[in-house]
Amino acid sequence: MNSSDKLLGRLLGRQPEPADEPQAQLPAQAVGLQLVLDPKGRILTSSGPLRHALAQLPPSDQPHHLLDYALPGCALALEGHPADWSAQVLDLDLRGLGGKTLHLRGWVQSCGSQWLLQLLDIGDLVQQRQQALSREQWQIFATQINEQIRLCTLSRLPDVLHDQLADLARYSHIPCVGLALLDDEEQTWVLHSGYHAHDAPRLWQDGQVLGNGLDSLSGNAPLHLNHIQGLNEHPRLQGIFGHREGFLVPYRDAHGVAAWLLCGCYAVQQQAPHLLERDWLMLTAALAEPLLGRLREQHNHLHLERLEALQGLLGAGWWELCPETAEIQLASQLVASLQLPDSHSRLPVQDWLELIHPADRSELASRLHALTLGKPLLLCVRLPGPDPSLPPRWYRLQGQSLGRGEQQRFLGFMLDISDIKNQQQQAAAAHARLDNLIASSPAVIYVQRYVEGALQPSFFSASLQPLLGWSLEDCSAASLADWVHPEDQDLYFQRCRQLLREGSVHARYRLRDRHGVFHWVMDEAKLLRDDLGLPVEAVGLWLDVTEATLAAEQMRQSEERYRILVEDSPAMICRYRPDLTLTFGNRPLAAYLECTAEELPGSNLGQWLSAEQREGFERRIQRLSPEFPLSTAEICLQLPGREHAWWVWSDRGVFDEQGQLLEIQAVGRDNTEVRRAQLQLMQSAKMATLGEMATGLAHEINQPLNVMRMAIVNVLKRLNSGEVQVDYLTDKLHRIDTQVQRAARVVDHMRVFGRRSEVEQQPFNPAQAIEGTLSLLAEGMRGKGIELRISELGFEVQVLGFVDQLEQVLINLMVNARDALLGQAQRPDFKPWIAVHGQRDEQRVRLWVEDNGGGIDPRLLERIFEPFFTTKPAGVGTGLGLSVSYGIVENMGGRLSVSNGADGARFCIELPIAHADQITR
Ligand code: ADP
Repeated sequence: MNSSDKLLGRLLGRQPEPADEPQAQLPAQAVGLQLVLDPKGRILTSSGPLRHALAQLPPSDQPHHLLDYALPGCALALEGHPADWSAQVLDLDLRGLGGKTLHLRGWVQSCGSQWLLQLLDIGDLVQQRQQALSREQWQIFATQINEQIRLCTLSRLPDVLHDQLADLARYSHIPCVGLALLDDEEQTWVLHSGYHAHDAPRLWQDGQVLGNGLDSLSGNAPLHLNHIQGLNEHPRLQGIFGHREGFLVPYRDAHGVAAWLLCGCYAVQQQAPHLLERDWLMLTAALAEPLLGRLREQHNHLHLERLEALQGLLGAGWWELCPETAEIQLASQLVASLQLPDSHSRLPVQDWLELIHPADRSELASRLHALTLGKPLLLCVRLPGPDPSLPPRWYRLQGQSLGRGEQQRFLGFMLDISDIKNQQQQAAAAHARLDNLIASSPAVIYVQRYVEGALQPSFFSASLQPLLGWSLEDCSAASLADWVHPEDQDLYFQRCRQLLREGSVHARYRLRDRHGVFHWVMDEAKLLRDDLGLPVEAVGLWLDVTEATLAAEQMRQSEERYRILVEDSPAMICRYRPDLTLTFGNRPLAAYLECTAEELPGSNLGQWLSAEQREGFERRIQRLSPEFPLSTAEICLQLPGREHAWWVWSDRGVFDEQGQLLEIQAVGRDNTEVRRAQLQLMQSAKMATLGEMATGLAHEINQPLNVMRMAIVNVLKRLNSGEVQVDYLTDKLHRIDTQVQRAARVVDHMRVFGRRSEVEQQPFNPAQAIEGTLSLLAEGMRGKGIELRISELGFEVQVLGFVDQLEQVLINLMVNARDALLGQAQRPDFKPWIAVHGQRDEQRVRLWVEDNGGGIDPRLLERIFEPFFTTKPAGVGTGLGLSVSYGIVENMGGRLSVSNGADGARFCIELPIAHADQITR
């Protein structure tokens, strides 16, 4: 049997029958196709089951040539004639029915002049070969994808992945392809990257969250999603695939399904019939495995970057100790943060210790040694910086040993904690200061813990001991209340309730100390609450106010005493505002004003003053200042049912910080009687003066009377002689008239002089008083041979007072001068004179009355103003003239003084010049 027979036998699975008939008698075969060919290769007959699978060629009168059935690929094998084809295996692709291709293998045998072509169907074999081929290409394609993804730079990874998906889509005719990855953090599937053919629906976009629909799938094998299977089983996938056909391939790694390749709008069986499920699994793995690796790499890279940035920012970094070489290795960030040279990333442990502050060095050395023995290290050390003026930086060193034996390593971490340390130190200092403050505070600071509505003492500052002698141990919630004075206990419990209700309280009660003595304490407490608003504790302080409380009590008592003093004082005491409204008045004042002391506040002092007095009063008050807060004056009041009352009134102004007058405190004394007595005294002095002047007056009146009598006698003589001439008569009558006027003037003046002074002082010109005095005295003086040297004042001024009173003063002085001069009358060649002259400056006017009567005995100078002092014989002198004069001048705000001049006494009346506002009122 030749080789072709063997092949046929193998193909048919049986021993080939020997060709016993030379004629091309077609044996009835159950398999394949048998064709009988003529020597030119034309088909004479056909048999075998496959003959029905051959294409129907158009009928022709000539038999069809085998080449008519052959497809282009196999035409080469059929070149020549059947005789040329014998002894070789023919692989023929013949046209089949319905455009199909029949893959056949066979050989020709000569049967006489004809040839028998035996053909068997090798479609399976061909398909297997094609499948193997396309799977091989598929593998190459997968390898390329894998490489591309593995080798590209991280920054190009998204583009490369997209390109690979696009290639895959094009290669396998997939309209929509996407790769879904499991997002570990969110535990959901996310479409990482996808590609859509330009005419395909856009099922997905990059980054789209796909939900958990993929979780339910088995993940061991690809899944077909079509209308026949799958679509209804996985309703959650329908949405993802837009209710279209699809194909899903899982990728599994050590942790489970990590990726799905999604092929949308894709009928895999039609488009890639040669590919097996494992081909798809392999391709998906080729895609997903390096991608996941790269993503992990990217993740680690980012993580590392972040870690490095963090270490840089914190001034932190790792270090590793190598005990064998006694070296320490430092992370580059640590080298930078410690401001060490780059070469110091690995340095001997000894050099490393040299960098540490001496205070911490030996401890670190011993801890490093302990670390090599397996004891974890935790230590805070200082590292002096390059600038010695700056404080050293603090680092926290932590270390531990990893692994065992040969593998053992000593790793650690170092962190800059200068900020925290500084804050700690500041906080500790502040704490110490606060502790000090609390301990040295004169107050007791306490904390009471809130336990189920009760407040239990949990802290007392050290000042409790010196204050009360107790300590925290002596005090439970119950005994704290025991310390409280029995009379104050209600108050104390009320304080606790108020503190809990309102959050803060202020109270004052008595606490008992260890020796049983009670102390007044002021209690200020606040309730602290937590975030939920629930009470946590009460913090408060006790201030010992015993002294202050006792002092306040003493003050109250003393005030009471003063009040009684004021109330019972015989003097009038009151307080009033600058507008004269009374704010307080004592009983004597009320008695004068005929009301009760309670009615006084609110009433106005001005109502008892005349308009002029009130003006004067207010003016005086206005002159008060913080520098000169005192003023005393005699005021005249119009009291109900009484004549004028004269009060000596002393004011003291009370001012605020700006010097503004707030209030006036006044003390008054009724001076009416004294005043009245004074007036009477003055009146009697006046009367005395008048009496004294009576002799002079008789002369004054006598003089005109004599002149008149002479004139009348002369007129009568003329009348009797009948030689009365009108001119003469007129002249005499004029003379009489002049004398009558003169007498009338004297009498007038006497009348005025005798009157009591008016109540209110009036402005007047002192020259007026001089003139009045002279009108009374001049004649008399001259009659006694006294020369009057009267100088004109030569200026116009006004003084305040009563003109008749000043006249009286001048009369007294001139009468006294006259008396002194008359006493000297016996001196030979004595020329007595009285001089009156005046002088002024800005403030004052001075009137001098001088004589040449020899003056006053210097020993008596001090006494002559005393009442009833006289050197004159009894019955002559009254001793009142000068003392009354003194009073008058003083009342006018002036001063009467005396001195001895060269020839005699020199009296000076000094008076204040009235202000313009006093004159115009
Ligand atoms: P009287 O004139 O009634 O004695 P006065 O009070 O007026 O009372 O005077 C008191 C005394 O002062 C006089 O007694 C007199 O001694 C003395 N005196 C007053 N004026 C003069 C004077 N001009 N020269 C000398 N002595 C005088």
